[in-house]
Amino acid sequence: MELSPVCTEAAQAAESYTSFYQQEIQRSCVTVKVMLNVSSTGLVGPQPEDIRPEALWKTPKNPLWQPWSRPESVICFGKEPQDMSKKMLVVSAHGADWCTRAGGTILKYVNAGWEVTVYALTFGEHGESGAYWKDHWGTNVEEVKHCRKTEAQAAAAFMGVKRIEFFDYGDYPLDMGTSRVQDLICRIMDLRPDVILTHWIDDPFNMDHEITGKAVVRAVSACGMRGAIPDTDPHFIPDIFFFETTMPHSEFNHFEIDTYLDIGDVFEKKIQAVKLFAAQPQLVEYYTRCAKNRGVQANDWSRGRRSIQYAEGFKRYVPYLGDCLPVSSLEERFIKEDGYV
Ligand SMILES: [Zn+2]
Repeated sequence: MELSPVCTEAAQAAESYTSFYQQEIQRSCVTVKVMLNVSSTGLVGPQPEDIRPEALWKTPKNPLWQPWSRPESVICFGKEPQDMSKKMLVVSAHGADWCTRAGGTILKYVNAGWEVTVYALTFGEHGESGAYWKDHWGTNVEEVKHCRKTEAQAAAAFMGVKRIEFFDYGDYPLDMGTSRVQDLICRIMDLRPDVILTHWIDDPFNMDHEITGKAVVRAVSACGMRGAIPDTDPHFIPDIFFFETTMPHSEFNHFEIDTYLDIGDVFEKKIQAVKLFAAQPQLVEYYTRCAKNRGVQANDWSRGRRSIQYAEGFKRYVPYLGDCLPVSSLEERFIKEDGYV
């Protein structure tokens, strides 16, 4: 292919860039992204077989492959979580938030073989344990914490969550100062999750939730920097999905869903888990209604491809990245598999 002078210069620059970072290539998503973008324009001519974009997408074992660079369909029914041995981290402000807002999604990924870890920054001992305080006149904070911890541990075990950790930072108000964010950085660098679920970052109705979401973003941003922890490889931004805001104030908190998961197959088990949080008996009705409402919305977006009764909604932080639009190229196959034609 004959290249113009400008293209030749760009190609040389790209090749130089690639060469300079060849030692980093397996660890740096940025490098891969630049390579893909340049090669997709044809500026650098034919590429070795194993680094063409198509090869990356079709070969998950390829060390250059990154989950976010795969051209996911925007509608992918019939496509269960497939990548085994991956890690999901759920960061929850209070003892029950992780289960109520993302319990169905967690169950689906646990069932798919993912390793799920939950961090509960507080027990919700002051602000989200009303029924326990009411029914145990004369109790104290330590007793409430013990109750909430026991409930959360029972729910986690019931759901198959591998690990749940309690930070006991104190709720209402939760304070996530620099040292606590630094601790979160270390934990994320150690765990290296592929996906993080946490609170939406705009929640004036419940600042504990907002502070948690923002602390996670702060920590993850730092984890992507070489030098965040000396002599430690950075952990590039994992896929972060924000879950439901404080019920029932999604509109007030500007929570606009861009991702739905059909949780119909695990909904009953999720509700059984939510019932284990006896200090918040109202959660069962709240999140049954929520799942139905999100199911109605998701069902409408499915345009008849699937009958959805219960769903969980998320807002993604990391945008889709790739060389083509995430169009529903496999849509017809999924329709046939689901029997909706
Ligand atoms: Zn909460």
